[in-house]
Amino acid sequence: MKLPAPGPASHWLRTAAPLGLPPVAASADFDVLVLGGGHAGVATAWFLLEQGLEPARVGLVEAAEIAGRASGRNAGFLLADLAEPYHRLRAGLGEKAARLRRLSLRNQRLQAELGARLGIDWQFQDDGVLVVAASDHEDGECRASANALQADGFAVEYLDATETSRRLGARNDWGALWDPAGGGAQPAAYVRGVARAAADRGARFCEHSPAVALGEGVDGRVEVRVRPAGGGEFLLRAERVVLALNAYAPLLDPDLAPLVAPFRGQMLSFPPVPPRVLAPVVYRNHGFEYFRQDRAGRFLFGGFRQTAIQAETGYEEEVNPDVQARLEAFARSLYPQLAGVEPDARWAGTMGFSCDGLPFVGPHPHRPGVVLCLGFTGHGFGLAAEAGRMAAALVVEGTAEDADLFSPRRLL
Ligand SMILES: Cc1cc2nc3c(=O)[nH]c(=O)nc-3n(C[C@H](O)[C@H](O)[C@H](O)COP(=O)(O)OP(=O)(O)OC[C@H]3O[C@@H](n4cnc5c(N)ncnc54)[C@H](O)[C@@H]3O)c2cc1C
Repeated sequence: MKLPAPGPASHWLRTAAPLGLPPVAASADFDVLVLGGGHAGVATAWFLLEQGLEPARVGLVEAAEIAGRASGRNAGFLLADLAEPYHRLRAGLGEKAARLRRLSLRNQRLQAELGARLGIDWQFQDDGVLVVAASDHEDGECRASANALQADGFAVEYLDATETSRRLGARNDWGALWDPAGGGAQPAAYVRGVARAAADRGARFCEHSPAVALGEGVDGRVEVRVRPAGGGEFLLRAERVVLALNAYAPLLDPDLAPLVAPFRGQMLSFPPVPPRVLAPVVYRNHGFEYFRQDRAGRFLFGGFRQTAIQAETGYEEEVNPDVQARLEAFARSLYPQLAGVEPDARWAGTMGFSCDGLPFVGPHPHRPGVVLCLGFTGHGFGLAAEAGRMAAALVVEGTAEDADLFSPRRLL
């Protein structure tokens, strides 16, 4: 299936300069070729350079623009936990739950360090995360989660409804889990900044160059056919190919359909309404609603996918008017200061949900020479730098810290 055309641009894509990288113009050989120029692909390519690979032997091909899909269309939250409340994750995974959280915390530090080192203006605001309850049941989950996290040595707190409302700058009838680790950033600026740095170092990054076929050559190298937007078809060959296609992976490799499926998320933003009344990023109603206000006073809201599960499945980046109307009404109900202020951007993005909620980073189950780095299940901004570092280490060294957590072999 052909990739659908990109939908309306997100607030982030409107404000992060495009890179204008050239499409593939000739057949070529690489040591490692990365497919997909989202956060995961760009991070993988960057860490391949940090592993010491010769930059000119590292390639990346992106079907459209770097960070033009989910990586430039998300809420920009850096969360330390996944969607599943920690106490339940702990019950299901045991001590692996604490390892997952430590990995996410490492990811936050890694992104912050890299952003600073490369001089990227990614507007990281580390003002913490409020996981806000929207029912008695969820309130209980926030308490149980806070207890389980504290028992594992993590500095979080349960807040009652009064304190939750104070920090929200809006009324909420239930409490929240307060997590000081995390915050929000400009995701497209971050990913494009890293891509620019990798391309400046000499890595061969190409935009508007979809891979259309993946195969094994007679010499055991992996072969990728690429059909650039401007015409022609080229053969790219590499010792190793990293699939960083997230939701789109099954379109190139149908064997991956059982591992990852596409689900759409809707977002909107309003022009700034200072003062800033909400500092942390907010994850509410089991993550089905999420919102934030940046330091300039701009509110961004996402979610309500649960009200249109069937319609919000698939690859089209369509803005769904019903879901958008719910989002807008919700925003206005919380923050009366938005009265008379019209949204200045509405957009959608496609997430790749893995079959067990965790990403896949490691050797492809059936294809020699191919490594997966995908399936971020709506949490890739908070995981993909570490996942990319893991994928690069697996390619170069054959081993990586915590690789067992995301190994595709866990399903075999
Ligand atoms: C509305 C929304 C809100 C979200 N909010 C958050 C959040 O706050 N925090 C968080 O951590 N995560 C969030 N996410 C999830 C996060 O955006 C993703 O997990 C993350 O961007 C995944 O990065 P990726 O590189 O794996 O995938 P993508 O960004 O989807 O990148 C894959 C790339 O592969 C390219 N591609 C596809 N097919 C081909 C091909 N055949 N050849 C070449 N290239 C190809 C695509 O064009 C795309 O650029 C959200 C997602 C959405 C949609």
